[in-house]
Amino acid sequence: MNYSFRKKNKIVKYIVIHYTGMKNLKLAYKKLSANSSNVSVHYLISRDGIIFNLLCPKYKAWHAGQSKWKRNTNINDHSIGIELENKGHEFGYTSFTSMQYSSLNKLIKFLKKDFYILDKNILFHSDVAPNRKKDPGEKFLLKQIKINRFKNNKKSKENYNIEDMLYIYGFHKTYINRHKKYCIMAVKRSMNYLKITPSISKIFLKDFYNLLFH
Ligand SMILES: [Zn+2]
Repeated sequence: MNYSFRKKNKIVKYIVIHYTGMKNLKLAYKKLSANSSNVSVHYLISRDGIIFNLLCPKYKAWHAGQSKWKRNTNINDHSIGIELENKGHEFGYTSFTSMQYSSLNKLIKFLKKDFYILDKNILFHSDVAPNRKKDPGEKFLLKQIKINRFKNNKKSKENYNIEDMLYIYGFHKTYINRHKKYCIMAVKRSMNYLKITPSISKIFLKDFYNLLFH
């Protein structure tokens, strides 16, 4: 099992949701708990809703890799990782099960209380590493876990351009400057678009605005 000690000045404030992206649960479990894999995670939720606690959240797991969010870099320092069993885009991406959502709900409720985690800090891997990651992807339904990340957003001006909106969503400035297309695709995944392209249509801009301010 790979892990590091958390530094005292790095508080846990995020939850990062992933999918395993592997052919089956056994392979995912093996990889996430092996020393040789260079990855690890705190929780794994199988398709039938079983929650495996692989690492105590007081330790740092290696799930997010190179990552940034708002002004934070190295999101592993600040986060708890949850993997949902799903073959992913590479091996046959499927809908998540109701048992997975139900267990995820319970787990998030418990972690939010224990670590004082706010709704706005429940993130996707594709948010914190949009240039590299697609998970949990467009089939993950945020409304199933009753989280509204943007409920406290306030409008500060009349017109926002796409860069403003990506910044309000939470992307790190580096990603907006260098990987704008991937940021747009990450937003579309989070809004459960069926077709994930970097195009910016009027409908998308309206949807994105409504996501941020409603
Ligand atoms: Zn991931």
